[in-house]
Amino acid sequence: MNLTIQEVTAYPAYIPVMLPLGSVKAETALSCVVVEIVTAEGIVGHGYTAITDEEVVTAAIREVVTPALTGMDALDREKISERLYWLLSPRGQTGYASHVVSAIDLALWDILGKATGQPCWRLLGGARNEVPLYVTFGFGSLDRDQLRDAATHLKSDGVTRFKMVVGHQALARRSHNRDLRAAVLEDVERVRTVREAIGPECELYVDANCSLDPTWARYLADRLGEFDLTFFEEPVRDNDVVQMRELRERTGMPVAAGQNEGQLFRFRDLLVGGAVDVIQPNVVICGGFTAGQKIAGMAQAHNVEIANGGAFPFHNMHLHAGLAHGGLVEWHLISVEMCKALYSDLPERNGSMLTLPETPGLGFAADRDALRDYASRPTSRGCGKG
Ligand SMILES: [Mg+2]
Repeated sequence: MNLTIQEVTAYPAYIPVMLPLGSVKAETALSCVVVEIVTAEGIVGHGYTAITDEEVVTAAIREVVTPALTGMDALDREKISERLYWLLSPRGQTGYASHVVSAIDLALWDILGKATGQPCWRLLGGARNEVPLYVTFGFGSLDRDQLRDAATHLKSDGVTRFKMVVGHQALARRSHNRDLRAAVLEDVERVRTVREAIGPECELYVDANCSLDPTWARYLADRLGEFDLTFFEEPVRDNDVVQMRELRERTGMPVAAGQNEGQLFRFRDLLVGGAVDVIQPNVVICGGFTAGQKIAGMAQAHNVEIANGGAFPFHNMHLHAGLAHGGLVEWHLISVEMCKALYSDLPERNGSMLTLPETPGLGFAADRDALRDYASRPTSRGCGKG
């Protein structure tokens, strides 16, 4: 079978999303890049990345990556990964490069699956055919009443694990005379509202998206102790190893991080430095399945759980189903709706579980008309969000 790479195409997309949360309605938008790789015999793979600047990633793929990959064998994932490392991040830089590498690698795994007739999760190891989910619903745009109504609705739909945002871009908003203490104390009341709505038997997680400094992260963690949280995700700016270790030690609060990291050494440092109770490689950011399984191996050697952070369950589910050391997958409601705009045949959530598809490759199909349509529309920068 001739799997020589013939075409690489990047599609940027900025997708408006309406959140379905029972009586609660919330509008937002999110950007991503879908990569399409076409091989000589016509097998097509689709990769994906997000939580980045879609215009920068698209330009890097078009202008830097495509000339380097054309003519290579799509099965040579390690060779391609190594070439992209020396091309895009030869001194260990993290950032846009890891998003590019992730999108390419996922497309190559999609091709591998289609060429062998196997789903990616089985090619990764086939540890299980369903994965446990947690649902990320508690976004900053919802007020306390909406949080309670949305949590109640989700619980009635079989959800047992819930994640909500805290911090609310506190550090980024310092220049607007934002009162950090008031913001953090409001977080305490928001978490109290959700815990009361879901009851003591459900799991609850919070995520500060790197928005706090160590002082306010500790202040918040101390006050959230009574709510029996399973973990506090990305509590401090930069995912600082020392500051997260100290937060764990001083407060006893379990810490999770890793979703935005793009080099193996960063995951090593988080593990060796005792910074996390749960490490969160995200295959749409960390370098695809090729890097994700290496990170999972490091975590297994440290006896540290892995979980999906940073959304995009339809790609990450394969890693967590494929590897014995897999863990929770994040059913991030905005990202799920976003993927519905781009793909067909997506698996459906069943309460807090997700069954993996048997379809070869990633197991769902990119809508090429939709990709072209979104690529022709304004990006997040064009819409004034950049
Ligand atoms: Mg997160």
